[in-house]
Amino acid sequence: MNARDVDPRLGEAAKKFLAGKHQALIGGKWVDAKSGKTFETYDPSTGGVIAQVAECDAADVDAAVAAARQAFESGPWRALPGKERTLLMWKLADLMEKHGEELAELESLNGGKPLGPMREVELKASIDVLRYTAGWATKLNGETIQGLPKNFHAYTLREPIGVVGQIIPWNSPIMMAAWKLAPALAAGCTVVLKPAEQTPLTALRLGQLILEAGFPEGVVNILPGFGPTAGAAIAAHPDIDKVAFTGSGEVGRLILQAACGNLKKVSLELGGKSPVIVFPDADLSLAVPGAARAIFNNSGQVCAAGSRLYAHAKVFDKMVEGIAGAAAKIRLGQALDAQTQMGPLVSQEQLDRVSGYVEQGRKAGAEVVTGGSRVGNTGYFMAPTVLANTDAGMSVVREEIFGPVLCAMRFDDEDLDRIAREANRTMYGLAGSVWTRDLSTAHKMVQRIRAGTVGVNVHGSLDPAMPFGGYKQSGWGREKGGEGLDLYTEVKSVIMSL
Ligand code: NAP
Ligand code: MG
Repeated sequence: MNARDVDPRLGEAAKKFLAGKHQALIGGKWVDAKSGKTFETYDPSTGGVIAQVAECDAADVDAAVAAARQAFESGPWRALPGKERTLLMWKLADLMEKHGEELAELESLNGGKPLGPMREVELKASIDVLRYTAGWATKLNGETIQGLPKNFHAYTLREPIGVVGQIIPWNSPIMMAAWKLAPALAAGCTVVLKPAEQTPLTALRLGQLILEAGFPEGVVNILPGFGPTAGAAIAAHPDIDKVAFTGSGEVGRLILQAACGNLKKVSLELGGKSPVIVFPDADLSLAVPGAARAIFNNSGQVCAAGSRLYAHAKVFDKMVEGIAGAAAKIRLGQALDAQTQMGPLVSQEQLDRVSGYVEQGRKAGAEVVTGGSRVGNTGYFMAPTVLANTDAGMSVVREEIFGPVLCAMRFDDEDLDRIAREANRTMYGLAGSVWTRDLSTAHKMVQRIRAGTVGVNVHGSLDPAMPFGGYKQSGWGREKGGEGLDLYTEVKSVIMSL
């Protein structure tokens, strides 16, 4: 594609990247897909094509797995002292920072993410995860086991799990890549990473930075392509030791089935339908903007989004009016516009899906307090939406919409068990938040909510030290924190007769 055709708001570096070839990274080299096929990737703010990308499939997965296996078994990677892996990861983080503007622009263009928050929040959080997790490379210790008869010496070792396949979604592409790559690299694993079809670009730019940082060849392989071909081949591959997936529950189930063949380890980061529970004593000057952010951030395309509001009858109207007021003020616009606070949804498919849910809600009797429809006819913009008169029988309350749609429900109850039961009435268990000034209510609710992350007067956190993952059908395992390393290590028991 011609550099002249690209968005004039992009800086020179992003333009140059777009004008280049977008190939797969296998064994330290950039290569075309073996089939020679490419696919188009889009700007969801306009629907326009921005690049052609290599369309990898099973044959490329075979090549990438062979390179990752070679790098794991015979390459220098896992034999490096932890300190050397730490330093390389820090170097990568430094390069991400150095090229931060370019990465933020590319992510904004390809994923429809407003540039300001992309630059200030997600890119920084991605860099933080690399830096934090890098430190674990020197802290992966086993234990000595005491208490055996005196003529034995026993201990454990923590070793890298091997070659890992990583399949990530489109809603936070760089951040998802960082969450996946960081613990694998710190542990000494080698990786085959597949970005989502909608958002392949920043993973490929990250691949260039990985080479520039000096990671040995084959340690990180990046294969753009489609789920049912490249993704399925990763999940089923007999020489991959572990697969880590973030995305829908539907595909999570396919991954599990595919992983059966060689019983590879599986970790899953799936969806959510997280409750935001507001008590009558809550500070509404915090709860209103907090709840609005919890659902409208990234156009609601966030697995931990606070998509079910439970507000006490005494504050329900104020909460709903306040959130609807905040929604009306949000500046929707093209992701690269400096003024934009909320960008488009990622694709026509996602716009149809979200609009379809709102329609189902309307038909089932929900009241559309604000929003409820597409904005404009160019790009995939959806108005921030609040639905009231909703109940647990409706699909809008039960299912993950993955868009800027809040379902508001009222409770008139003092019984925390009953409130928690309502909040927990979902197959998901990813996140939740409680808004109150009462410490006792806060702690009691924290104990009662069945979810992997619970906030008190805040919804969610991107801190790299905090483990993230789901109860129930929101997934298996925890990413980030020390727990994140458990997904990438095996424990070996060693016993010695003295
Ligand atoms: P998805 O299909 O689950 O996609 C996630 C990743 O899995 C992508 O890389 C995808 O590749 C890959 N994939 C798809 N089919 C596969 C297969 N058979 N084997 C292996 N990998 C496969 O998500 P989506 O279709 O883009 O979005 C659908 C819904 O999922 C959303 O509306 C949302 O509710 C949910 N979702 C949740 C999260 C989350 O963070 N929890 C993230 C994204 C989506 P392709 O991109 O090439 O299809
Ligand atoms: Mg898909």
